[in-house]
Amino acid sequence: MSDHPLIAAIEAGGTKFVCGIGRGPHEVLATQRIDTTTPDETLESVCRWLSKAKAENGPFAAIGIGSFGPVDLNPLSETYGYITSTPKPGWQHTDLVTRLKNRFKVPVGFDTDVNAAVLSEYLWGAGKGLDPLIYITVGTGVGGGVLVNGQLLHGALHPEIGHLVVPPPVNSLAIHREGQCPFHKSCVEGYVCGPSIAKRWGVRADTLPLDHPAWEEIADVMAHALMNLTLTLSPRRIILGGGVMEQPQLIPLIRGKLMSHLNNYLLMPEVGREIDHFIVPPGLGVRSGLLGALALGRLALDAQGTTKS
Ligand code: ADP
Ligand code: ZN
Repeated sequence: MSDHPLIAAIEAGGTKFVCGIGRGPHEVLATQRIDTTTPDETLESVCRWLSKAKAENGPFAAIGIGSFGPVDLNPLSETYGYITSTPKPGWQHTDLVTRLKNRFKVPVGFDTDVNAAVLSEYLWGAGKGLDPLIYITVGTGVGGGVLVNGQLLHGALHPEIGHLVVPPPVNSLAIHREGQCPFHKSCVEGYVCGPSIAKRWGVRADTLPLDHPAWEEIADVMAHALMNLTLTLSPRRIILGGGVMEQPQLIPLIRGKLMSHLNNYLLMPEVGREIDHFIVPPGLGVRSGLLGALALGRLALDAQGTTKS
């Protein structure tokens, strides 16, 4: 057993909440999946499970939450710790942090699910010590977390990489050629998230055959987004996760198209002979979100120690 403190971790997703208790990536003592229903019902189930986990494993020193969003990350804001304008019915303006803090009386770390994932990949996964680091998930939506100068990137809000604008695919063979995002005509999410793929091609993403023309187009859209990110943030590595990225043909296709779009403009090995180490799958697999939440709990505990001393 390590001497790290026990932390409770919550990966808050639109479909499911995954909770865990542990000390680090090799010491997760228990986990639980809870379906996302209404905020009250879901958060009550989470709190009940955390109380049980505490009774069975001992008290935890902090809680970390990586949440679907958009979320309010500004500690000076009245709605800090809230899920804010989400399209998910019933979840707009939901306070996560105060509820857990009041219930368990420990520091609570809070960030987006994708910032949590980039943090765990930076500490323990496929991006160990590499900075800037980007983690993108392509699943029910598209989201991205960014770590720069050892810190998770926040700003006026937080990065919303899923809505980067990309050129509309040319000569698309899709049934519905237009992007499916209700907000933007031609953004990444409107073409490549699972529901957009299903709407555009008329078939569920996980049932499209490996050699279907959809994958070339999806890779092309992704490569445009990665080109923009490479040009603006100069990342040392980009990690691609989420359900859609489980298609094994996608990452090699994206690597090739990224190099072709950049057209030898950037003279760096990462977009040349080392491309296989530049665009990679998550090192922690599906655990990056939960372990990221655990890392956020650790940070909250450290921050409290710093303020007190
Ligand atoms: P979430 O984004 O809700 O956390 P996932 O990352 O698992 O969850 O993404 C779910 C989406 O990914 C669904 O739209 C599903 O159709 C799609 N998906 C899941 N597995 C695959 C797969 N192997 N190939 C293509 N698409 C997939
Ligand atoms: Zn959009």
